[in-house]
Amino acid sequence: MTNIVEDITKQKVAFYTLGCKLNFSETSSISRIFEARGYEKVEFTDTPDIFVINTCSVTDNADKKCKRVVKEALKISPEAYIVIIGCYAQLKPKEIAEIPGVDAVLGAAEKFKLIDVLDGFEKKYHPETNQKEAKVFASEIKEATAFNNAFSINDRTRTFLKVQDGCDYSCTFCTIPLARGNSRSDSIANVIKSAKEIASSGVKEIVLTGVNTGDFGIQDGKRVEKFIDLIKELDLVDGIERIRISSIEPNLLSDEIIEFCATSNKFVPHFHIPLQSGSDKVLSMMRRRYKSDLYTKRVQKIKELITNCCIGVDVIVGFPGESHEDFLDTYNYLNELDVSYFHVFTYSERDNTLATEMENIVPQKERNERSKMLRILSEKKKRHFYESQLGNDFTVLFEDDIEDGMIHGFTENYVRVCAKYDPLLINETKAVTLDKVSENGTVEVKEIEQTYETH
Ligand code: SF4
Repeated sequence: MTNIVEDITKQKVAFYTLGCKLNFSETSSISRIFEARGYEKVEFTDTPDIFVINTCSVTDNADKKCKRVVKEALKISPEAYIVIIGCYAQLKPKEIAEIPGVDAVLGAAEKFKLIDVLDGFEKKYHPETNQKEAKVFASEIKEATAFNNAFSINDRTRTFLKVQDGCDYSCTFCTIPLARGNSRSDSIANVIKSAKEIASSGVKEIVLTGVNTGDFGIQDGKRVEKFIDLIKELDLVDGIERIRISSIEPNLLSDEIIEFCATSNKFVPHFHIPLQSGSDKVLSMMRRRYKSDLYTKRVQKIKELITNCCIGVDVIVGFPGESHEDFLDTYNYLNELDVSYFHVFTYSERDNTLATEMENIVPQKERNERSKMLRILSEKKKRHFYESQLGNDFTVLFEDDIEDGMIHGFTENYVRVCAKYDPLLINETKAVTLDKVSENGTVEVKEIEQTYETH
């Protein structure tokens, strides 16, 4: 009986995440802090008492998206307490505080202490006008020096495990160092502890996540550990079937890392390596720490050791000063390169970045056209990669991703496959042979053998 009374009085909290894997891992960890303190985590539409919205500064129109989510939240629970956290909250706390309905804005140094900072979630009113006012807790970004560990547990298939935060690089288009602060990491011992906890909850795949993941190892401003040692230790954790590195800068993806992944049973044959431009002129204007030649060498080394490796590429089009010829350099470079797909970003201006002061701005129409060309090229590359894998045997980790009677999942080398839906396949790893590329672009597998229990 007591329990029922307690359940009725529990405050309900809902979360909404904009942006990257890192934000997802952090929202998930913050939600577990709420649950541990007796709050009930509910769906966005389930009339919550509190909404926590985790924002992103990289997403285009971050402000508009944030406003729309707040508006929706208010439609569902007009009296709810609305808290905004995340990169955009760190960069533009005052603007966000002015969005009607927002009760609190918390920056990078405060977001993990949310419950304590907002003690009781009491709304604040102006003493004279009696109008509702938002509380703002956003310290200078240099105060964000602590590393808060985080991992997502949404379903049991895959988790994003945060191992690193912040960035000491100064790419001229990027606001992330301003929003997240300097590079800092968890310790290897702590990451292993989290990985064991994740393994015991039944999750099959870990995605190692960070802002500049390969820069892992800085604690209190000093480099004390190395990424290669982290992955060697993680490889020994029982119970995790697959580990994927979300993304790694080409200058940090050493031969040693590639060689280790080539022999590991857990680290999958898949790398995602930001390139940003195939033109050395543009790379220098972006202040990237490599030239295309180094990138080519990395791709060659991977393919030499791991023939079936999937390689994803981040690329930005329309950076200021990128002439049509520079763009064609990127296009031709990528066309020739043995990579499997791209994530194409259309350059857009971000306040307080050096790129906004550069000349020769590329007109928006041109940016869009370049983006379209690269997206088409990416589709071709992906299809070519998928076709090159047909007839090979892999394992697929099936997800709770069902459409038109088909269930989907990924091979270790990131080929998206589909098979006839069977509820028992969800979160299961199955050996398959890749058969053919279907009309919707996923790969069909040959029949999956049923395993029957014998007594
Ligand atoms: S490496 Fe460059 S693009 Fe990536 S987070 Fe750091 S500054 Fe931004």
